[in-house]
Amino acid sequence: MPSVYIHIPFCLTKCTYCNFYSVTRCGELPLFLDCLRRELRLRAADWTFGPLSSLYVGGGTPSLLSPGEIQRLLEEVAELYGLQEGAEITLEANPNHLTEDYVRTLRDTAINRLSIGVQSLSDEVLRRIRRQHTARQAEDALAFAEKYGFTNLSADLIYGLPGSSLAQWERDVRRLSRLPHLSCYQLTLEEGSALQRQCAKGLERLPSEEETDRQFACLLSLLSEAGFTRYEVSNFCKGEAWSRHNMAYWEGEPYFGFGPGAHSFVPHRRRWNVADVARYAAALSVPVPTDTSWYEEELLTPDMEYEEYVMLGLRTFRGCELERVRRQWGEERLRHLLAQLRLFPASHYRLSAGRLVLTEEGLRFADAVAASLFV
Ligand code: SF4
Repeated sequence: MPSVYIHIPFCLTKCTYCNFYSVTRCGELPLFLDCLRRELRLRAADWTFGPLSSLYVGGGTPSLLSPGEIQRLLEEVAELYGLQEGAEITLEANPNHLTEDYVRTLRDTAINRLSIGVQSLSDEVLRRIRRQHTARQAEDALAFAEKYGFTNLSADLIYGLPGSSLAQWERDVRRLSRLPHLSCYQLTLEEGSALQRQCAKGLERLPSEEETDRQFACLLSLLSEAGFTRYEVSNFCKGEAWSRHNMAYWEGEPYFGFGPGAHSFVPHRRRWNVADVARYAAALSVPVPTDTSWYEEELLTPDMEYEEYVMLGLRTFRGCELERVRRQWGEERLRHLLAQLRLFPASHYRLSAGRLVLTEEGLRFADAVAASLFV
């Protein structure tokens, strides 16, 4: 499942909770796109994993690009890296960009999956976190996507947002549970975010922990009723509508990431680009780049690879394959894993069909369980 991720690190404004790498200097987009194309060409010779099964354009706000610009980018990736027949090609989009015209034109591109940043269907909540769109625009965006045949649709939602309530959250989840895929995250107060500063000054207040827990419990119950599987800690789908791109990440498949801040992973090696548009552009805006300070890389030791495999695998419904642990990291490692597991209540995990999978209860402690298996 080889894949490519393209990071478009531009946003019109910053949402208060956000600490993803993005800048609001949208005038630099054309220069950035030239540099991105150069990076695509520069690294193509290093790609030895065959045609891509998934391609993901994320951000930032990739829907700041016109459908024409997106299509040119996709064609360039397809030409340089190859695309499998039926590859999943996702665009992350903000609802205010998905006007009827935009979606209709997007239908003529190779994009076949949309991940829409809805976050909430309450105007009051959206205003407090400074999203660029209204609830109406989010509803319209989904309706246009459905109208123009995007069946592989996902929405992002956040629980525990300022101004949110259980009743409003329940209404939002019910409305969105018609979609095949939802990504639902708990708000985290990120160090350095505007929201964190607002809260520190007493200008904003988050719901209590109990209220956030109630929203989460409500989410699990409504989505289970609606036929969703929780296939990763924060991701839910109907049938097999999981994000193939994200599953490939979590299962340790190779991927290249392009653009500032993007990460790449291939066996035994990880690489990441500087999260800095100016440095990225300075290095890549010349015809033959010689400066290599726009990325860093590291070789992964067997221990690092094991930790990554366990940490990511335990977050998914497929869990970790015990035979793979034995084959790749040895009998001793497998024995240790099984011994450490006994420190946790049996209700936290199950061992079946040769896999270690966390139960719903265990998923609440996924990181702690994984960390204890490394000791
Ligand atoms: S649109 Fe997304 S990436 Fe941009 S500021 Fe908001 S949350 Fe962050």
